Amino acid sequence: MIDATKALLSELIGFETVSADSNLEMIACLAGRLEDCGAKVEAMIDPTGKKANLFATLGPERDGGIVLSGHTDVVPVTDQDWHSDPFVMEERDGRLYGRGSCDMKGFIAAAVTMAPKFAAQVAERPLHFAFTYDEETGCVGAGHLVQVLKERGLKPRMALIGEPTSMRIIEGHKGCHEYTTRFHGLEGHGSAPDLGVNAVEYAVRYVSRLLALKDQLRGLAPSDSRFDPPWTTVNVGAFQGGSVHNVIAPKAEVAWEMRPVQASDADFVKQHLQAYCRDELLPLMRAVYPDAKIDTEVVGEVVGLVPEDSNEARRLLMDLTGANSTELVPFGTEAGLFQSMGMDVVVCGPGDIAQAHKANEFVSLAQLEACLGVLDGLAGKLAEL
Ligand SMILES: [Zn+2]
Repeated sequence: MIDATKALLSELIGFETVSADSNLEMIACLAGRLEDCGAKVEAMIDPTGKKANLFATLGPERDGGIVLSGHTDVVPVTDQDWHSDPFVMEERDGRLYGRGSCDMKGFIAAAVTMAPKFAAQVAERPLHFAFTYDEETGCVGAGHLVQVLKERGLKPRMALIGEPTSMRIIEGHKGCHEYTTRFHGLEGHGSAPDLGVNAVEYAVRYVSRLLALKDQLRGLAPSDSRFDPPWTTVNVGAFQGGSVHNVIAPKAEVAWEMRPVQASDADFVKQHLQAYCRDELLPLMRAVYPDAKIDTEVVGEVVGLVPEDSNEARRLLMDLTGANSTELVPFGTEAGLFQSMGMDVVVCGPGDIAQAHKANEFVSLAQLEACLGVLDGLAGKLAEL
């Protein structure tokens, strides 16, 4: 199996699926492989027509079963010091080098290589493959895929997201919501503040309200939260606006993020800020300048994976890997989106996140073999899922 996985991984690394570019060739390659194993395959094309999710099903089209999920896109190699061509797989010292080897084409190659074995075990329950686009830019593809599955009412029982965890079992991570809030005021002379709308001053009020919410969030953390820190955090990462001392600033911009430990925290912050702008800031701004505006651009809203008391996927993966503990991690994945469909979800895949996104990214053969071992064990349990 390892040789077939290596060969497929080499092919997948050759597709330059940087998030900004098309992944359609890679999707076609995977679709072909899975179709050959008897899967029903479906490409879900994105609005640009340049990218697609692949959703493939082995076995009956019914509820239950498991989803094996991975993203097809990779981060750019620009300005990185690679010792070999990042899009040509190279084997050195028991490691396979190449962009995406660890994050996360290694897992995809292993999962697809095992497809014939899965195909023999799916008489009762389906096994789905979900290979998505634009994960690295905010889990856009997975959002699209989950939307389609929700509309169809399809309910797989669990999902395994093969992000690189060194095959450790991850059952939770915070969400990551990023926003840019822009203030549009009215320029004027600094000596006549009442005749202008100072965007910087309104942005400051907005930020100070945001910081007050940041303090309140500490008190909202679930008492049994295992995250570090246990509460939802807020960070104001950038603040820009104005030009010189004596001009009323017409524009200001705040780039901020929050990392929710639970969806209700994110709603709390968003609803509070919306009401603050609508009821307090905007009426003041528009009393002077009716065209004044506050816009918030959603840069990304990656939902968290909330650790649950009962999680069948956790039990299954602990069985298959022999692990007796699970972890929470600080990085985001598509897992929370699958959880939002009511599935039990864990993240577990080959390779170390430390190698992801860096020059000379690699996955070790040992990790790929460990992953194949787990997938092999999974094949034997498919009928029970
Ligand atoms: Zn990834």
